[in-house]
Amino acid sequence: MTTAPTGKQQQNQWLYNADGEELRVWIDGEILPASQAQLSIFDHGALYGDGVFEGIRAYGGRIFQCASHIERLFHSAECIRLEIPYSRGEIEQLMRDTLKANNLEDAYIRLVVTRGPGGLGLNPFLCEHACTYCITGALRLYPDDFYRKGMPIIVAKRLRIPIECLDPRIKSLNYLNNILAKIEAIDAGVLEAVMLNTDGFVAECTGDNIFVVRDGAIATPPGEAGILEGVTRAFVMSMCKELNIPCQERMLKLDDLRGADEVFLTGTAAEIIAVSQIDGDPVGKGEEGPITCTLREQFHAIIKACAPEG
Ligand code: PMP
Repeated sequence: MTTAPTGKQQQNQWLYNADGEELRVWIDGEILPASQAQLSIFDHGALYGDGVFEGIRAYGGRIFQCASHIERLFHSAECIRLEIPYSRGEIEQLMRDTLKANNLEDAYIRLVVTRGPGGLGLNPFLCEHACTYCITGALRLYPDDFYRKGMPIIVAKRLRIPIECLDPRIKSLNYLNNILAKIEAIDAGVLEAVMLNTDGFVAECTGDNIFVVRDGAIATPPGEAGILEGVTRAFVMSMCKELNIPCQERMLKLDDLRGADEVFLTGTAAEIIAVSQIDGDPVGKGEEGPITCTLREQFHAIIKACAPEG
């Protein structure tokens, strides 16, 4: 059995590369060793979770679905009336510069734009300037075993925050709703939890979108269910089209999950991963099903074909 890494070890993964060299980050126009980069304690990103971010992947030196991530970042920023002090082109370039500074081709990229330093009042418009930074590093989110066998999840008691309160389509720095559900998952000895919305429909997991397969057809909750509309989710839906696998967005109940032949999750970090159990009950045969397997293998074939950059 492998033991879970400590917080310090997890942090080190982003501070140092496999050779023990310190990774560099991009912050407000400068590339610095990660330990030297500083964010003000008055930054409203830290004080109030006021900011937006993206989690992105590079495969073989190519930034996967780069335009979609940048579009979502700008959309999130617009929704919270945060002006990103860079153009879309500059954002793409700074990610490339960070990857290059770290000699990374296969990497996870965390791009963050905070409201910036201000006073202790909430008024976001009194903040001096937005702060932009980019962290890159190697990543494998879930243990390899889970990709072969599927992973168990639970249904969180915590409901996904309603659209009217804070639209989950905004990828903001305010992740407490998800974190509280994640704590439930960890307490139950698993790594993910599916969250329902306040109307009792399935929304998404704490950091992944969810899909069900029944009788050869796939379904996933729509944006109106209260989800982050994942870039991987959209990519998987387009893959289904190409592969002639029926895939629709529709409202799902917990019974749709429990009665499914297969359930799988998608996310930038997770990629595509089967769910083997929900609340201890097996999904289908309790292992990765054939459609999830096809999609996962196809996804990897596409990623591999991406490299090297053209
Ligand atoms: N839902 C939530 C709440 C997320 O945080 C994420 C990203 N980790 C996803 C879904 C998946 O989105 P994407 O495929 O764009 O990474």
